[in-house]
Amino acid sequence: MPVRTGKQYIEGLSKKPAEVWISGEKVKDVTTHTAFQNGVRSLAALYDQQHDPVIKDSMTFESPSSGDPVGLSFIIPKTIDDLVRRREMMTNWAWESCGMMARTPDFLNNAVSSWAGSADYFVNDRPEFKDNVLRYHEYIRENDLTLTHTLVNLQRSRNTAIHDNIEDQVALTVVDETAEGIVVHGSRILATLGPISDEIAVYPTRTHILGKDSWRQAFSFALPCATPGMRFMCRESLDIGRSSFDHPLASRFEEMDALVFFDNVLVPWDRVFLLGDVDMCNDYSAATQSTAHTGQQVVNRTAVKTEFVLGLTSLMAETLGSTQVPHVQERIGEIVIYLETLKACVRAAEADATLNKWGVMCPAQGPLVAGRQLYSRTIYPRLAEIVQLLGSSSLMALPTEADFNTPVGPELERYLATDSTGAKDRVRLFHLAWDVACSAFGGRQVLYERFFGGDPVRNAMLLYQTYNKQSAMDRVQRFLEREG
Ligand SMILES: Cc1cc2nc3c(=O)[nH]c(=O)nc-3n(C[C@H](O)[C@H](O)[C@H](O)COP(=O)(O)OP(=O)(O)OC[C@H]3O[C@@H](n4cnc5c(N)ncnc54)[C@H](O)[C@@H]3O)c2cc1C
Repeated sequence: MPVRTGKQYIEGLSKKPAEVWISGEKVKDVTTHTAFQNGVRSLAALYDQQHDPVIKDSMTFESPSSGDPVGLSFIIPKTIDDLVRRREMMTNWAWESCGMMARTPDFLNNAVSSWAGSADYFVNDRPEFKDNVLRYHEYIRENDLTLTHTLVNLQRSRNTAIHDNIEDQVALTVVDETAEGIVVHGSRILATLGPISDEIAVYPTRTHILGKDSWRQAFSFALPCATPGMRFMCRESLDIGRSSFDHPLASRFEEMDALVFFDNVLVPWDRVFLLGDVDMCNDYSAATQSTAHTGQQVVNRTAVKTEFVLGLTSLMAETLGSTQVPHVQERIGEIVIYLETLKACVRAAEADATLNKWGVMCPAQGPLVAGRQLYSRTIYPRLAEIVQLLGSSSLMALPTEADFNTPVGPELERYLATDSTGAKDRVRLFHLAWDVACSAFGGRQVLYERFFGGDPVRNAMLLYQTYNKQSAMDRVQRFLEREG
């Protein structure tokens, strides 16, 4: 099947409803429920881009099996040009939400495509797992499906590694194996996009290394979100039904985060990619370099989001008449430095890409790890802070759209106009700034950027442990030994 339209994506969700709970309610149809419908619409717009006559050719490639045009994020890159084309496609998707929807389908499409390209890795667990990975990749590509993922277990305590204790287990655990498949029971966090996805991928993450006895928690598989026994428990929606004037981001880009509970869920054998081998699970992302492929999506999206904040803050300064104030210029200049750094990370990762042993062109990890960690630890929290520092009281002097149609309207028009901008345009702009830096939506964005790729402390520890520091140490040693 060629690439889907937005309408087909929406129909797919309606036809196969997952079990979704929110605010004490079991949701009948996420495509019409107020908490989700606008997020669904924004995701549908991505699928529609694949049919936009102006850009559609840059959004797809020819399917190796059907010959149909299929989404470029399903490509198994063989050349640097493939990586560049994929990035250009992902940039179109990222701009649709100004970088605010992070888990657009390209993220997991990149991941599964990297597994398929390195499918021989899975043979070492069981030969049939390689075929499962290849078939699954073809299935989601040809049906243009939307995936969510969940990698981290809920924990009763942060002090210990997961113990192989089935009776008292909150971690997702294999509790049975049958002729049909494996049976899993337990919980996982935090499936962003889960309630509005077609499929869920469940696999290990290198930020939470499995203990040597954790073979029952060592697996990788994928399931339809509508699988019996699987429940998505959502946080409150950030889309509370306000206009796009009042809540410009939350009213459009609610991608939702959900706990996932598995109640003795059957995973058919053809959906299992790894099982029971702790070392293979722990080596998974390093071997397939899947984090380099998802990293290309991540850092490219963060560059888009940073460019968006640059545009926003520049408009704020013009509106407030503060463009000549030295520290305003300095802060916006700081954003330019971040933007150029992120763009350079993406370009360097492409320029220094190498073929892995299975012939997949993998972006260079170093610049992407640097870009990701800089963003989560420093850049995005600072961007939100700069919006606050530049916006100040204008982020609170914010009547709603409805207030302009009251008897107070003429006073709003008079008092909120600036030298450069009419009152309504100023208020519209600052509602956007507020949604970036002050609203619940803005708070979740900061939390997301800090944690979505694993917690920053463990990520930095991982970098320390895996980065080759030897040549740097040798140089210092040689300097110490230099005579004269
Ligand atoms: C908005 C949002 C969206 C997310 N979306 C997804 C998603 O789509 N899919 C997905 O799989 N995951 C997702 N995550 C989950 C994310 O992967 C985890 O939050 C992250 O891995 C950290 O795990 P945790 O929340 O259990 O942190 P915790 O383990 O609770 O860590 C909390 C704090 O304790 C410290 N800490 C605890 N234990 C240790 C330790 N052993 N060593 C060092 N430091 C420790 C951490 O440094 C941190 O500061 C999302 C998270 C957020 C916030």
